[in-house]
Amino acid sequence: MSRRTNAMNHVHKYYRLEITGLWHCGLCTHYMPGNMGPDPVIGFKTRCWICDSKFILSQFDMETNKPVCMDCAMTMVKERQQSAKESYIEEFRLLGVSLEEFNKLFPKANLTAEDVKGIEPDAVEVIEADEDERS
Ligand SMILES: [Zn+2]
Ligand SMILES: [Zn+2]
Repeated sequence: MSRRTNAMNHVHKYYRLEITGLWHCGLCTHYMPGNMGPDPVIGFKTRCWICDSKFILSQFDMETNKPVCMDCAMTMVKERQQSAKESYIEEFRLLGVSLEEFNKLFPKANLTAEDVKGIEPDAVEVIEADEDERS
């Protein structure tokens, strides 16, 4: 068995160069020439830009310049949902309405009692002007 050079021996790690729209390998000088059609790398093996695992590029991956594997994509979606939920919970705390009212105001939030467990909505502070303030 003969050993090949590293450049020939790896799964290309594809990314799209924004300016040219061409797909290059991040590990070697390989790239897909512009005359190969719009999405020439679909069906090709690549490596995830987050975890480096190997996967096959699909139409879905063409939406990004640095494709990531399904696991990492799912993690990113979950993190985005999580941060959206966190801002709703913050909103809930600031508004000081009941959970039922809040979900009526923001149907998309769909917060559960579990989500807001332990969160005390800010009581509206009534600041009484102190007329007797000494001067
Ligand atoms: Zn390569
Ligand atoms: Zn990954």
